[in-house]
Amino acid sequence: MAKGTESPPGQDADSVTKAGGEEHGNVTSEMDDILASWRPHISNPRTLEWRDGWLENGYCRSCRQCCGPQESDVPYPMPLLPSQQGPEAARRFHLLAPDMAYLAGPGCKSATPSGCALPREDRPVACNLFPLALVNGTIQVFMYCPVAWHIPMDRLREIGKGVASWLTDFPPSDLRHLDRRMDPAEASRVYFPLFVSVL
Ligand code: SF4
Ligand code: SF4
Repeated sequence: MAKGTESPPGQDADSVTKAGGEEHGNVTSEMDDILASWRPHISNPRTLEWRDGWLENGYCRSCRQCCGPQESDVPYPMPLLPSQQGPEAARRFHLLAPDMAYLAGPGCKSATPSGCALPREDRPVACNLFPLALVNGTIQVFMYCPVAWHIPMDRLREIGKGVASWLTDFPPSDLRHLDRRMDPAEASRVYFPLFVSVL
């Protein structure tokens, strides 16, 4: 996933956790445990900037939840654009279908100890957006990413609008393919909405 450099756009990490949790509306003891484990490693605000095609995310270098081996074997789908499909795709990704890569237990085939081996244009769109995601036609935020708790909601929404604007340049068929269709109740367990529509 995206890597970035440190700079001070967000708000102080320790002051945002509880207040941010209430704003996002999904405070759980599991989340409190995760936050407690992150705080010693992520004590300063980090960069989060939309770069018109990818998200520069300064939290990744301390977090590193994504890309490598995962605790869950439930596949996280990563739709492939037509230009990313073909013989190379099977070498780069675990595939659910020729047009659908996924991340699960073993981690991604393109993950290396120093990050993703692929140029950004060859990475699934889901990777370049994450922890933002196109879910049920709207921009949502994966709530188990530290970004969800360290970045104020209005800033996340501003970034979400930039992502939405970029996505609407895709042909409608690609956009529908990129959209993750989920049961709303299931989606609300892992994402919170930014109230930014794309489809
Ligand atoms: S969970 Fe968020 S901060 Fe952590 S590696 Fe993934 S995108 Fe980066
Ligand atoms: S392609 Fe694989 S290694 Fe690269 S960012 Fe996506 S999940 Fe991570």
